[in-house]
Amino acid sequence: MTDIATSEAPPSGPAPKISFVSLGCPKALVDSERIITQLRAEGYELTKSHGGADVVIVNTCGFLDSAKAESLDAIGKAMGENGKVIVTGCMGAEPGPIIERFPNVLAITGPQAYESVVGAVHEAVPPAHDPFVDLIPPQGVKLTPRHYAYLKISEGCNNRCTFCIIPKLRGDLVSRPAADVLREAEKLVKAGVKEILVISQDTSAYGVDLKYATSPWKDREVRAKFLDLSRELGELGVWIRMHYVYPYPHVDEVIPLMSEGKILPYLDIPFQHASPTVLKAMRRPAAQEKQLERIQKWREICPDLAIRSTFIVGFPGETEEDVDFLVDWLGEAKLDRVGCFKYEAVAGAPANEIAGAVPEEVKEARWHRFMAAQQKVAERVQKARVGRRVQVIIDEPGPTVSKGRTKWDAPEIDGTTYVASRRPLRAGEIVTVKIERADAYDLHGVAVG
Ligand code: SF4
Repeated sequence: MTDIATSEAPPSGPAPKISFVSLGCPKALVDSERIITQLRAEGYELTKSHGGADVVIVNTCGFLDSAKAESLDAIGKAMGENGKVIVTGCMGAEPGPIIERFPNVLAITGPQAYESVVGAVHEAVPPAHDPFVDLIPPQGVKLTPRHYAYLKISEGCNNRCTFCIIPKLRGDLVSRPAADVLREAEKLVKAGVKEILVISQDTSAYGVDLKYATSPWKDREVRAKFLDLSRELGELGVWIRMHYVYPYPHVDEVIPLMSEGKILPYLDIPFQHASPTVLKAMRRPAAQEKQLERIQKWREICPDLAIRSTFIVGFPGETEEDVDFLVDWLGEAKLDRVGCFKYEAVAGAPANEIAGAVPEEVKEARWHRFMAAQQKVAERVQKARVGRRVQVIIDEPGPTVSKGRTKWDAPEIDGTTYVASRRPLRAGEIVTVKIERADAYDLHGVAVG
């Protein structure tokens, strides 16, 4: 959960105040940023406390039942402390449970309904018309630390994974024209961002809906295509990190950009499983691809490539043989960073109809087996990094030891590199670090340049 306040509040005046709670994934965070950018442009101020706000906006997550419960709690807190509450985000797409518990919320809108949220705010508390509060940084308001930012390149998804209701909530894939994405990226860089995290539901599918149409950027036309966009982003001179990519053959073309240092040697690929039977039941994109061969080929082109992934154990119908397959696969794939979830039924997901629900204690045992297998892999991968000199971006400077990340680590989900340094380091600074020690998740080293 992200409680949002900004240090860039307008200098004075009776500007209406908004308290904003942002829940859920980076994609939801980008939605929050857009809503806040618009409201700030209209002169609204952000405040940290619900009590001091004229209205509270809660951007909800509705992906899992646990996320829904967290969202309902956040709405309840806002109702209790303020009473004027606007709900948006994934949970707003199916407002029944919200209305049932909180019939007095002012408005409920679905994900990406920026105009409706802003309209509801206008109704609850009209904007103050003061030209001095209309100042807004051209890159918009970023909720992430200043040195990194998420860049959303499309909305929605054309896949139909059986455990997922995102296409139902967010609709089919709608890609932004390449020039539009690049303009935003350039603004971020001009504003001091040093690392851009490219996100969407399916980054490798970027532009399919636009039939890869070109748009004018600088002196050239750029296709709305994963490769072309990656190449252009790679020209911006900052770290570019790719999230939510699927192992389709055309992803091969992007790997040379990683070995040339144009974009980070990092791919976030949510494999979710390895057993062909389970992948088929999940209806995962690129499930029929020979994933291990593909990973092998990528590493031949870019030996430094780090792959992060998430998996689900205990999907309906999953057998012990499927888990054997998955554990063996993990041993061979040698993924750098891995998360694992126990399957949780999502209301409205087709997977709920699949026979063979796995009992909770079996899920638990499979989860432990998975984690133990990956722990061994992670330790080997991390140990191989000891002794190397690597670039680290500083996230949290400290008096003697600062926290940062290598090119192999995304913020919030991957490991930390603890950097000892004689001179003070700044957030967003990229330093050369000699790695001296490693555990399964984090690295420890000393700044050498
Ligand atoms: S790829 Fe699958 S899991 Fe991801 S958003 Fe699309 S349907 Fe959902």
